[in-house]
Amino acid sequence: MKRVIVSACLLGINCKYNGGNNRDPLVVELFKRGVAVPLCPEQLGGLPTPRPPAKIADGDGLSVIQGKARVRTVDGSDLDVTENFLKGAYETLFVTELLSDSCIACVLKEKSPSCGVKRIYRFESDDLKEGMGVTAALLHSRGFKILSSDEREEIEKLLEEI
Ligand code: SF4
Repeated sequence: MKRVIVSACLLGINCKYNGGNNRDPLVVELFKRGVAVPLCPEQLGGLPTPRPPAKIADGDGLSVIQGKARVRTVDGSDLDVTENFLKGAYETLFVTELLSDSCIACVLKEKSPSCGVKRIYRFESDDLKEGMGVTAALLHSRGFKILSSDEREEIEKLLEEI
């Protein structure tokens, strides 16, 4: 059976930092067909829900993996949550690698500091910048196919494939 790793919030699970979700009908359809595996890296990294919002400072997800950038909360608490983000990314990688024979793609929530695929918010700015979140960057670096939740046609093609 083919498998697609998906950001859990896209299924409708209330795992977002604010306790909400990003329910996406295409991801729900993937799940109903039995192929979607929902994971939330930030919860897997030990962070609570709700939790303070966080952004990557001085780089992107790849920089965090390389130890060149940190992840910090942006609600005024100024906590360093880098280790939680890394733990969540590696736990997600663990599950994805277990399914590597059947995993045809990972559909991840755009703009998230964990799951963002093309654009993320950086600590230094309120504007979106090019770059991946920590989990997306790790999965991509290990050769898995990564799709942004904004790539609607590509996700529809996945549904045709299965
Ligand atoms: S974007 Fe990723 S880390 Fe954020 S709530 Fe969704 S699954 Fe969890």
